[in-house]
Amino acid sequence: MFELHVLGTSSARFAHGRSVSGSYVMTPSGALLVDCGEGMQNRLVTHNISLKKSDLNIRSKMAKIRTILFTHAHLDHCWGLLPMLQTMGLDGRTEPLNIIAPSSKEAIEWATENPGLAPDLDSGVDSSDFAILFHQWKNLGGKDGDFGFPINWVLVPINQKSPFPSPVQPFDGVVLHIIPTNHGIPSCGWLISNVPSHGKFDRAKADELNLSNDQIRELANGSDIKTSSGQLLASDFRGKVPEPRSILISGDTTGDVEAFSQLPTSPDILVHEATHLMAYEGKAKMWNHSTSLDASRHANISKSKVLALTHYSSRIDDIKLVQEEAQELHKCSIACIDGDIFTVSKDGEVSMHRRAEGWKKYDF
Ligand SMILES: [Zn+2]
Repeated sequence: MFELHVLGTSSARFAHGRSVSGSYVMTPSGALLVDCGEGMQNRLVTHNISLKKSDLNIRSKMAKIRTILFTHAHLDHCWGLLPMLQTMGLDGRTEPLNIIAPSSKEAIEWATENPGLAPDLDSGVDSSDFAILFHQWKNLGGKDGDFGFPINWVLVPINQKSPFPSPVQPFDGVVLHIIPTNHGIPSCGWLISNVPSHGKFDRAKADELNLSNDQIRELANGSDIKTSSGQLLASDFRGKVPEPRSILISGDTTGDVEAFSQLPTSPDILVHEATHLMAYEGKAKMWNHSTSLDASRHANISKSKVLALTHYSSRIDDIKLVQEEAQELHKCSIACIDGDIFTVSKDGEVSMHRRAEGWKKYDF
């Protein structure tokens, strides 16, 4: 159903072999990125080479990316975008690409009136808002932002604290929700869910009625059929519509965000920052970040199954400590390493393959 590749687990800068933020998600109808820190394109390529040498039938191809989602505009989350777009152009890409990012109403209005300029300090608009950055990147990308393929640049003002559906939904059968977070600038998490259409076909029930193979096939395909004893409705041969499967990638945030308790569906995996250990709780609060315990609290109120921890401060060398702290509140927590791949089956089974351990498999 979903494959999630965690390709950067460091906050702010490269440290201890950990790169800055960026995740690749394969959905049933195409791939997306959530965040795109410095060097993301190189990471995708080396990760894919490693996958090709493995027994796994999983890949992380840049050409498959249909949409890039951002959690916020700090450079450790977005500085890899421009070179990646230029590479996509050089690779001869023709398919359109969506780029969807949180912003503010004020910044969008200011940037519309002053395209390409950077706001003064007294303008009240943050110069690192995506509304400003999009114009600058388009200018750097070439005439009128022409990278050689169509790009749909989408700014979403974050005016509310509750989750809401993304105004652009690029994937058939997959719905994107924006989860407003708290990081001092417009910020959000991305909930990626499938839309289950129908329950499982009850073959045993059909078999009991002595139907022909053709009749059973029709019922299984959703068509009602007529028999000598009357009409049979295909819907009567379907089990309950299953729960949607979902992944929430939260971005940077403090640990007290109500929206995590208001999700439309409970995530199978919550990818959450744990910039600091509990000993540095004060620093986490000061910089609008989370501790490992904050992450596990959000995992609990969102009823997430697996908590995947990431975005560690360079101060943290041994990430097992992050995991142990989070497990005090949320047992099913794992501290991610760059290159970890999680899979979610349609029945909600979550597994992980760890590149750093020769693709060793973990089940949750
Ligand atoms: Zn960050």
